[in-house]
Amino acid sequence: MSNKRSEKHLLIAFDMDGTLLDGRLVFTLADRFGLSDKVREIQNNILLPGYEQTRKIAMLFKGLDQQDVRNAIENIKLMKNCDRVAKEFKELGYVVGIISDSYTIATNYVAEKLNFDFSESNILELDQNGKLTGNVKMPLGWEKIGCYCKISVCKRYSLEKNAQKFKIALESTVAIGDSKSDLCMLERANIGIAFRPKQKILEEKADVSIKEADLAIVTQFI
Ligand SMILES: [Zn+2]
Repeated sequence: MSNKRSEKHLLIAFDMDGTLLDGRLVFTLADRFGLSDKVREIQNNILLPGYEQTRKIAMLFKGLDQQDVRNAIENIKLMKNCDRVAKEFKELGYVVGIISDSYTIATNYVAEKLNFDFSESNILELDQNGKLTGNVKMPLGWEKIGCYCKISVCKRYSLEKNAQKFKIALESTVAIGDSKSDLCMLERANIGIAFRPKQKILEEKADVSIKEADLAIVTQFI
């Protein structure tokens, strides 16, 4: 590691599912409760904008206990070298966080485990017994800035918001993600890294594209 690198003050925003985690919470949770076909049906409905899909998927989980969600997230493996990279970035003094279109109940858990500075996502509503009501709050929606993404979590909005909060210029931001929900964030960050991209457009628009399932590779580009 060069000295020059350690002098920089950077903000690094990670996507969670498929990037920090070698798996996806929604699928893991759906598998456990026999809801996989229903989740896939919603996700394959191209007529539904992303934020409507998020609403419908949350409704499928109505009645599950918050512990069910925690158990699911605890059982998804971290991506190869995730721990190492997280530790390295923190030691360099970088501001590191998660911006995900999953749920805060999961992102908070992962952020705490990795000693990250922030995590932002949709919020599943709980009743007084800790069960999911099926409602989901989407405080980071695309409509906040009229973004083209039209998904429940506009990652560009969250990136800009956190850069401002931590007083870091957008020229000193890095975003890392694997799917088209990450696109607006990858385009906005100074360095956008497509990590095992699921769609070709991500590869085309990102500054860097990594095919291997190894997070250690991202350090070569930061
Ligand atoms: Zn957006």
